Amino acid sequence: MARFLVTAGPTREALDPVRYLSNRSSGKMGYAICEALITAGHKVVLVSGPTVLDPPSNADVIQVESAQEMHEACTRQWQDCDALFAVAAVSDYRPSATQSQKIKRVNDSLSVELVANLDIVKDLAATKGERLVVGFALESENGEKYARQKLESKNLDFICLNDPQAQGADASEVTVFNRHTQWQVGPCAKSALATGLVEVILKNSNV
Ligand code: C5P
Repeated sequence: MARFLVTAGPTREALDPVRYLSNRSSGKMGYAICEALITAGHKVVLVSGPTVLDPPSNADVIQVESAQEMHEACTRQWQDCDALFAVAAVSDYRPSATQSQKIKRVNDSLSVELVANLDIVKDLAATKGERLVVGFALESENGEKYARQKLESKNLDFICLNDPQAQGADASEVTVFNRHTQWQVGPCAKSALATGLVEVILKNSNV
């Protein structure tokens, strides 16, 4: 039995006390992966951005909002985990400053400076040793090329490529890549897709 760290859902990057930048991730895929890992007999720690989903039964769940909070929670948990599934749609950028009061409409235009968030999976994979690290990629073009680049640049063992139609959908299909080969899983419901993905990855790794 291994202990898996799973990230899921979107992150929210605050502009002011009432507004944020985020994305369309529902968290469904990450939560389905947690269920599949638990069904396969493993322990799961889920670090989740905001979703409307019920937490997976029998997982330790840590709720976070921003990418920085997700990074802090993951860094703490990673020390005690054997593997990581980074499913979260982490915001690449956050506002350089969060205003303490609600931004008022004053001018016809408003510019907001954004700064890059740290890449959580890349940071954790840098200290992975023999541990398994799986990333996800959602690309609107050149899917295989970008997915393979991310596999290398983030030091991942596997990357799961899905297309933008997967966002919020109940059914989807995924191509899984490692450095040597690739597998097609689905199209099918996300719960079956998660089971299939977990099966392929665990069969081809030493967890
Ligand atoms: O956003 P990108 O396509 O680079 O995401 C690919 C992988 O990297 C996903 O597994 C995602 O969870 C992870 N990621 C991350 N931290 C970020 C950006 C992406 O962990 N700041």
